Amino acid sequence: MPTRRAFLTLSALGSLSVGAWSPFRRAEAPARPARRPVVISTWNHGLPANDAAWAILRDGGRALDAVEAGVRVPEADPTSQSVGYGGLPDRTGRVTLDACIMDEHGNAGSVAFLQHIKHPISVARLVMETTPHVMLVGEGALRFALAHGFEQENLLTPESERAWQEWLREQPDDVKAEINVENKSKGGADNHDTIGMLALDADGNLSGACTTSGAAWKLHGRVGDSPIIGAGLYVDNEVGAACATGWGEAVIRVVGSHLVVELMRQGHSPREACRRAIERVIAKNPDYREIQVGFLALNRDGEIGAYSIQPGFNFALCDEAEGNRLIDAESRL
Ligand code: ASP
Repeated sequence: MPTRRAFLTLSALGSLSVGAWSPFRRAEAPARPARRPVVISTWNHGLPANDAAWAILRDGGRALDAVEAGVRVPEADPTSQSVGYGGLPDRTGRVTLDACIMDEHGNAGSVAFLQHIKHPISVARLVMETTPHVMLVGEGALRFALAHGFEQENLLTPESERAWQEWLREQPDDVKAEINVENKSKGGADNHDTIGMLALDADGNLSGACTTSGAAWKLHGRVGDSPIIGAGLYVDNEVGAACATGWGEAVIRVVGSHLVVELMRQGHSPREACRRAIERVIAKNPDYREIQVGFLALNRDGEIGAYSIQPGFNFALCDEAEGNRLIDAESRL
């Protein structure tokens, strides 16, 4: 029977034989094979969006192309009343759109308070790829889009106009902006929020996109978190990517998506990074029971995580092993 000391010595020799042993360092566990490609996106409209993204990813395409193609699906869908065409308007009846995109090199493009253009995500990509800037807003963003051949369109559908008229009739003079109010109108739980999409391609590169018509009945000129790099979306190819949905003001105050990525950089799993970021939002918002914020994250190994304040936040996940499916996120309340 070997003594304890002899056993320790034998163990040490065993470790030495694999080469990198030191008394202060355990032998590395074999690396887990990365899951890729993979794409995730927020809410129910993530399912058809993931299908479009997956068509690119499964053929070895670039994550950046996948996320742009993916989020263009709800942008063009008039029944998706919180993104692009058909989005619920601000309180003056105007549909104003916010979007941003990031690639594997840390390049970023963004548009905010953009009207009359169905695909703000593609304008954001053009800002990223053809200008020295990151962000264009309002009239300047519209002129830029028109100069690049985008068509000027009426994005207010009869359904969204009717919902706005109904809302107007019910309002006292001192109305407050209300998040997720669209979920209480026709279409109920199927009418959800911003789409944020994160993808890891077969080459191991990450990209992300985020696009929204923002909070329904917002003040004219209001910009939420979705086009703000670091708030609505952040991508760092060495670590992971994150996006946000929900009450944008609360997300901006904690620079939420950047926070999630930095927590992953410190070694937290995507789920734990999202959970800690939600705790930060809660700590900074005494009224957290009244608001919804959800984070979604994907790390460079293809691991995913999500967390929200309120129950009800879901996301779509598509990978080779199990295809495209909806998953309910964990929540704090
Ligand atoms: N985050 C979006 C905004 O505040 C809206 C949402 O995701 O519900 O504009």
